[in-house]
Amino acid sequence: MVIRVGKEQIEQIRLHAENTYPEECCGLLLGVINDRDKLLVEVRQTENNWEEELTELWSIKTGNKRNRFSIAPNVLLKVQKEARDRNLSIIGIYHSHPDHPAIPSEFDRAIAWQQYSYIIVSVQQGRTQDIRSWTLDEAHQFQSEEIVTSR
Ligand SMILES: [Zn+2]
Repeated sequence: MVIRVGKEQIEQIRLHAENTYPEECCGLLLGVINDRDKLLVEVRQTENNWEEELTELWSIKTGNKRNRFSIAPNVLLKVQKEARDRNLSIIGIYHSHPDHPAIPSEFDRAIAWQQYSYIIVSVQQGRTQDIRSWTLDEAHQFQSEEIVTSR
């Protein structure tokens, strides 16, 4: 599988990641999934809704907006409905890793859903260094997914 994206969509993700630095940004990827590829149609920025209480919920030691993100369930539902009304679906989630590589963390893996593309932006010292996409295999392990930029 590859994910096909537009130049301006990647730009939108990059800017969001840099503007949110040193905290993690996050957002939803709306598009269409075919047999062969995913087509990204729209990038929807969301708030990083990470709260201290989630640390307990997920049984993890530490967490703050510099190393965790969370999209509020009501936002997810709202965007899901909007997408459906336009014959689109949520095909993935993007977020940033401030001063860390664009590689999913164990926490990212724990909360990840099958089928979704996970685009991760590595922002070093406020500047984007790397943008990669990941998707889960059948063993619930992340495999890298090619980002094909066009348009
Ligand atoms: Zn992450």
